[in-house]
Amino acid sequence: MTTNWLYRRTWKEVETYLETDSRIIIPVGSCEQHGKFAPLGTDTLAAVAVAADASRRTGVLVAPPLWYGWSPHHMVKPGTVSIRAEVLMELLADALDSLARHGFADFVVVNGHRIVNIAWIQIAAERVQRLSKVRVALFDLAYMSSEISGRLGFGTIGHGEEIEISHMLHCHPELVDLKQARDNPKTEKELYHIDPRNCHDTLCYVPATEDDLRKLAQKTGDTVTGRPTRSTAEKGRRYHEHLVERLVQVLEQMES
Ligand SMILES: [Zn+2]
Repeated sequence: MTTNWLYRRTWKEVETYLETDSRIIIPVGSCEQHGKFAPLGTDTLAAVAVAADASRRTGVLVAPPLWYGWSPHHMVKPGTVSIRAEVLMELLADALDSLARHGFADFVVVNGHRIVNIAWIQIAAERVQRLSKVRVALFDLAYMSSEISGRLGFGTIGHGEEIEISHMLHCHPELVDLKQARDNPKTEKELYHIDPRNCHDTLCYVPATEDDLRKLAQKTGDTVTGRPTRSTAEKGRRYHEHLVERLVQVLEQMES
């Protein structure tokens, strides 16, 4: 089965789809620097890859992705596009609301930009649920993969680390140049640690500043944290399959 992209369908086909199904997936990511060795679109490509494979298995439609995210700290490197969270919130709410008016009633927002995107997605989702009487589930790749990340021996969540780079090596190996990658292991913090697997994850996240990232670049020669050199396509494949399985599960729950 192929991916059921909404943009490839006619309105007539969408009308027919809605006679038997009210579910739709919308991937959300970012366009931000991921070091010298991985593409700016890493987060969106990750969300799209998981959404596309879940769509192939279930037949659920996939709405066009939101290619941008909220990335103020990553503006330190060229190519990054940071959209204000309040603008993204309105954009997502309008997209969901438009689809709701046509009869879509069960949405899954697949987020590839981790904790940075979660706050505004939650606000948009709550508003659309309340005003349009629909259901919106938030499927975050980092939170939905915490068990498999542990089993695969992935280190702590950073940025451009072995988790997302392994995933890219599985989905888009042609876009990764691992020879350029340098490790910059993250030090564990007792307070304000960000990783769903870590008991010190407080969820009290405020994005870093551009200045923080500039200092990181001066110190390490790149703007990533974690151990990207440990990335492998095989670990990426197992991580990806776990996430697709989980998303299929979420879609099936919505159906029942
Ligand atoms: Zn990323």
